[in-house]
Amino acid sequence: MYDVIIIGGGPAGLTAGLYAARGGLKTLICEEKVFGGQIVMSYEVDNYPGFPKGISGMDLMDNFIKQAEKFGVEMNYDGVKSIEDEGKTKTVTLSSGTKLTTKTIIIAAGASPNKLNCPGEKKFTGKGVSYCATCDGAFFRGKKVAVVGGGDSAIEEALYLANLASKVYIIHRRDQLRAVKILQDRAFSNKKIEFIFNHVVKEIQGDKFVNGVLIENVQTKELSRLEVDGVFIYVGITPNTKFVEDLIKLDENGYIIVNDKMETNIPGIYAAGDIRVTPLRQVLTAAADGAIAASSAQIYIETKC
Ligand code: NAP
Repeated sequence: MYDVIIIGGGPAGLTAGLYAARGGLKTLICEEKVFGGQIVMSYEVDNYPGFPKGISGMDLMDNFIKQAEKFGVEMNYDGVKSIEDEGKTKTVTLSSGTKLTTKTIIIAAGASPNKLNCPGEKKFTGKGVSYCATCDGAFFRGKKVAVVGGGDSAIEEALYLANLASKVYIIHRRDQLRAVKILQDRAFSNKKIEFIFNHVVKEIQGDKFVNGVLIENVQTKELSRLEVDGVFIYVGITPNTKFVEDLIKLDENGYIIVNDKMETNIPGIYAAGDIRVTPLRQVLTAAADGAIAASSAQIYIETKC
């Protein structure tokens, strides 16, 4: 019997693990993909306090993992298929079929990058289509690439790619970016970056590898072809809540609704990080959520179990 099972090993889950284990709770983190979460794909994090020179997402998360391990968190590379609430105990069923019992659960499974769902996207994934500039950018040294999207991720990763590629086109469906101003300013002043506003990608084209994108002007419906060797897609994220949708209360976009103690609608089950309804999705806010969720779980165990 665990005191806490944490689902997801990103900034929220690792911080929840650190706080729970440091508080003496028997704690397990289940992570089916990569410990560290989405931020490991970021080349540079320059808004996490304590690192005035910036730090790569990978190095930052490596520190999170080491610190959680130091306090004795158990880590498991298995996904979670479902969770069940039996009142004072809860059952977590792993993808392998193993069933674990626990007094509390913290859901910190984060979000996944959205797909464009246009022709060619699936066919050329790994052959010029990528969702991670830090992982794949080096393949495009001296080449032309397109970045799709206008949010923080698109602009941040376009700036990273501009260090490697000869040209970076940012294709955005509106004429206003969603990204924060500091990123916008950097991108607008980067000579390698060219914005293509009011356009959407209709098709990703190629032979063995990507060699271009067919784009449409959303106002005139005019089609044109852009010759690029790579396409990096950053069109938002979707919360990984499918496995709890029958049990946990979600908002209309699928994010988990919590109160300020990170409590969900089920006593003893908490949510933290990108997966919850929140006005800001950052490593810092995810980590803070994790700390609050672990503290709430500890109080619940001491008073209700
Ligand atoms: P996002 O903020 O939701 O932006 C998604 C972008 O993709 C928007 O510009 C959107 O256009 C566009 N888009 C969505 N669907 C599209 C489609 N089907 N076709 C073409 N374009 C489409 O997503 P994100 O940039 O991945 O960021 C996710 C969260 O993480 C945000 O809360 C963000 O602030 C945070 N984040 C923070 C940092 C940081 O602080 N360092 C870095 C990365 C991400 P519209 O603008 O027209 O809707």
